[in-house]
Amino acid sequence: MPLNSATVLIVGSGPTGLVCALTLAQNGVPVRVIEKLTHFPNGQRGSSIMPRTLDLYQFLGVLDDVNRVGFMAPPMKQYDEDGGATVFPMFTPRLPSPAVPEPGVVFLGQAAACGILRKSLKKFNVDVELGVRLTSLDQDAAGVTVKVTRGQGDLAVEETLQAQYVVGADGARGVVRKLLGLSMLGETLQSKGFLFGDMEVKGLDNAYWHTWGMPPNDNVTLRPTERKSENIFSLIATGATLDRTKAVQDFQYYRHFVREVTKDPNLEIGKIEFLADWKANTRMAEALQKERVFIAGDAAHVHSPTGAQGMNSSIMDAVNLGWKLALVSNNLAKPSLLETYAEERLPVIKDMLYHSTALLKNTLDANRKSTANPWLRHDALLMLGVHYRWSSLVLDQRHSGEGEEPTNTYGSDIVSSIRAGDRAPDAPGLVNIRTGDICRLFDVYKVTYHTVLIFIDQAEDAGPALDIIAHYPVGRIYSVVIYPSSTAGMVDVPGADLAVHDHDHHACVGYGVPSGAGTKDLVIVRPDGFVGALVSGDVTGVESYFDEMYEI
Ligand SMILES: Cc1cc2nc3c(=O)[nH]c(=O)nc-3n(C[C@H](O)[C@H](O)[C@H](O)COP(=O)(O)OP(=O)(O)OC[C@H]3O[C@@H](n4cnc5c(N)ncnc54)[C@H](O)[C@@H]3O)c2cc1C
Repeated sequence: MPLNSATVLIVGSGPTGLVCALTLAQNGVPVRVIEKLTHFPNGQRGSSIMPRTLDLYQFLGVLDDVNRVGFMAPPMKQYDEDGGATVFPMFTPRLPSPAVPEPGVVFLGQAAACGILRKSLKKFNVDVELGVRLTSLDQDAAGVTVKVTRGQGDLAVEETLQAQYVVGADGARGVVRKLLGLSMLGETLQSKGFLFGDMEVKGLDNAYWHTWGMPPNDNVTLRPTERKSENIFSLIATGATLDRTKAVQDFQYYRHFVREVTKDPNLEIGKIEFLADWKANTRMAEALQKERVFIAGDAAHVHSPTGAQGMNSSIMDAVNLGWKLALVSNNLAKPSLLETYAEERLPVIKDMLYHSTALLKNTLDANRKSTANPWLRHDALLMLGVHYRWSSLVLDQRHSGEGEEPTNTYGSDIVSSIRAGDRAPDAPGLVNIRTGDICRLFDVYKVTYHTVLIFIDQAEDAGPALDIIAHYPVGRIYSVVIYPSSTAGMVDVPGADLAVHDHDHHACVGYGVPSGAGTKDLVIVRPDGFVGALVSGDVTGVESYFDEMYEI
């Protein structure tokens, strides 16, 4: 391959670009990431990492690093006029369960999370190319030709790059969407907004997210960050008397506003690293693909950060697109697979805008009727219920949902009756038949393959499914034989990648498989952790699912 080409060119090194690049790199796809900035930005921004993103970080192999640097969201502390305070959790606290091992929100600044993703990419010899700005693109049936400028000012040189595919992960103001001529549909509410910033704050306990006043009246919130030893807090402020434009230009005015609202003589704002006026803008792109070029993340949707859905949705975009692009660019799947990226993501993004806009309007509504604290968050925002039940890509032989409209795509996080297209739950307490080791399904799931769960109670019953799997590309399907109950027939199955006993019944419960004798259920889990297929009894369902996808 010539030096100036890559199979996939990613434009932008924010969380979307890095996660997409990591998914592709792990799948063995030659990838390049270009970034117009000359240095990596510092700052918090997308700092609330939802449990669904933690699932994805687990499958990408970066969860341990994220948990090591990040920390569980602390409770909020709401100060009242009399100097008292009420402490409450933003989300209803949830304990880890077999299906959801990471049920809480983790705080980690976007800059630190991106650092972890870059470190992981480096293991695949992918370095972000700084100071390289995409300026134009042109595509035909053979590929995409991109013009970039490398370097700054008088030293900038123009280069031409070639790629099979381009992913515009270039943020809200990105050029890729514009070059594709895609419109952003939605509204801008100029009058509504917040002041955001990262700053040193002395005299404040970092065990709480502190909040004074109540929006839409003057309100200051200061949230601890992972940079605890430096006393760096992240600010959200709003209010009737706050002049946000003035605050970003005049730090004295800003400090005075904080003093007036907090009335805390011990609180001292030190170095201000960043202060920005965010104006409410709620929009999504009309489409996510034009032939060989895609947009993802903020390049495709912008909205209020009130629900902390932006970066989390962007990462879901990135993995959804990444595994599909990997199969197609490795010539393993039909190019039509790429059309399901927009088919699956657009309805979810539409619902995400609905949730985040409703929260924004409620938070800043001068006539808010509800006495509920506007900082309380509902569980749907944890994103555990986000599903693709309607997708043309999923196959559900247990339920009839053909022609179903994609409504309520944020779903429910209660896995009472799992359906194809739902989040694939974890299941711990599995005993590896070969080694006797204890393992769990989330140890197995990866962004590089589909996992087929073969529930049986006699080893020979695995044969038909394993025979079918053997027809498809090597290494792209991982087979796990699961024995629901301990029987004499529970032996290792040589053709399977793994054989386990569901000792604690979490796999059967999570995947809705009866644990009695004669069990023959198959579940296909996609590389992005969604259930691709629920197949009952007849293994031809496995064939139908993979035939739709693979080019063999
Ligand atoms: C104050 C604030 C708080 C937020 N809090 C949360 C939160 O708690 N949780 C959450 O989920 N989300 C949150 N968000 C949203 C979140 O930050 C974004 O959704 C996220 O950054 C999107 O990532 P991205 O990679 O798509 O875009 P970006 O992070 O914007 O990255 C795009 C990159 O592309 C580069 N680029 C642009 N044009 C070019 C070009 N022509 N050539 C090369 N490179 C280019 C840019 O320099 C940039 O580095 C918050 C946002 C704000 C503003």
